[in-house]
Amino acid sequence: MGSVGRIRGQTEKLIRRSILQAIFEQRMPPGARLTEDALADTFEVSRTIIRQVIARLAQDGILIKDSSGATHIASPSRQEAKQILDVRRMIEPKVVRTLADRAADLSFADLQAHLEAEDKARKQNDRGGLVRLTGEFHLLLVQHTQNAILVRLMTELQALICLAILLYASGEDACPEDEHRRIVDAIRAGDGARAEHLMLHHLDHIERDLKLDDLRPDVQIESALTWLSGRRSGD
Ligand SMILES: [Zn+2]
Repeated sequence: MGSVGRIRGQTEKLIRRSILQAIFEQRMPPGARLTEDALADTFEVSRTIIRQVIARLAQDGILIKDSSGATHIASPSRQEAKQILDVRRMIEPKVVRTLADRAADLSFADLQAHLEAEDKARKQNDRGGLVRLTGEFHLLLVQHTQNAILVRLMTELQALICLAILLYASGEDACPEDEHRRIVDAIRAGDGARAEHLMLHHLDHIERDLKLDDLRPDVQIESALTWLSGRRSGD
């Protein structure tokens, strides 16, 4: 890749990161429509770059292109949220067990600082900040595995769960108080079985808070309009 290509690749990555961050902070509502023009103006880049960014985020399931070519922030259904949590249950308990097995080689400073930031957001009733931080906690754990593919996968899953929390969460917290701290304590103690058990319990807890079995229909005008436009064009 030439230097122009490399710079463009870096720019795309930065924009992608900004959009993910906005989703983590709940600044971008599920279902919201995005246009190439608006994004190109916001980031002061060409539409070519924006098209690449959109293509990648669409590939990851974070942005959705509808049949008219319009781009929307994903709006995961309850069933999709359940599936994402099923995948996380397959991955994250193993992640913390692996970390506990390597506890002697790990640095806990960033995890400790992170837990304190969560406590602070909780005390200040900063719900947006807390949803972002509790999500980032899970990414931080995965980053300690130093497995880039796992980090990428979890980043995508985390963005989708943040959107699902916005849509379906009933409680005030994204992750229940103290559960993160107990997981870190088990890792630090090198107790892999306990860390694995606590993570599984924690993910179950998140799923319960999302009320995914709730029978209320998802009230979303955008998806309703998409459905209606599909009906109108005759199927
Ligand atoms: Zn959590």
